[in-house]
Amino acid sequence: MRQFWIIVLLLAGSILSGCSVLQGGKLLAPESFGLTPVTPGLYIESGADEATREKLREAMANAENAIRASYGNTSASPIVHACITEECYEGFGGGRGSVAKVYGQRILLSPRGLNWHFLAHEWSHAEMSTRLSFLAWNRLPRWFDEGVAVAISEAPEHSESHWKFLDATNVPRPTREELQTFKSLRQWLDAIHKYGEDQNIERKAKGEPEIRPVYSAAGHELRPWLAKAGSAGLLRFIEQMNEGAAFESAYQTANTAVERDASPQSGSRPSP
Ligand SMILES: [Zn+2]
Repeated sequence: MRQFWIIVLLLAGSILSGCSVLQGGKLLAPESFGLTPVTPGLYIESGADEATREKLREAMANAENAIRASYGNTSASPIVHACITEECYEGFGGGRGSVAKVYGQRILLSPRGLNWHFLAHEWSHAEMSTRLSFLAWNRLPRWFDEGVAVAISEAPEHSESHWKFLDATNVPRPTREELQTFKSLRQWLDAIHKYGEDQNIERKAKGEPEIRPVYSAAGHELRPWLAKAGSAGLLRFIEQMNEGAAFESAYQTANTAVERDASPQSGSRPSP
């Protein structure tokens, strides 16, 4: 069943992201396509120097710490594939506008994503899909999954200070209400396009700052939620989704339950 689930995700990820099934499927045999193992479950493009391999090992350890801090422990055992050239990344189905991606339990990093932030981001997606049942995962809105990944990974590109920069420079951003309509992957990708987040290569070429209004909006929404709900609230949310609760109810209840359980001494809990 697990094998079936991995194949479904591989196929869905490959089709929806526009790459061929063959490209995503190559991750099933990384050593046949120019990657070499660094540690079990961690591959890097052949030719990477020792400093880069060490950087990747460190990133893996830091990403795992971030996942443990938010999910309590790790359920997913992602296999990581790191590319040091764009050709390698594109060869495995990575788009030029993206930094990293995940196919089920298989994470693909571009040369721009060789750090713990993007590793933790994709790992959070893998963790969520592992912990949720197939039906519950299908009911999970994309904006929530992305927001949790953004909050956990603390990538500067999606940070609160980037959100403030967008605000200060009047860059259009989705409102909270609009953000919560980005439920399917299709709606999410349409939003990325609508807010110009897929135009960063062109922006960079013109010497303009890169903008990430949609990812930053998801982080802005989920950061206070996660700070308040904590690991216990996130796990309770996942449990409720698996029990069949509607997303809205699980999203609200995680916060309420955490508030109710909080002792009077817990006043130092971060507030939104
Ligand atoms: Zn993501």
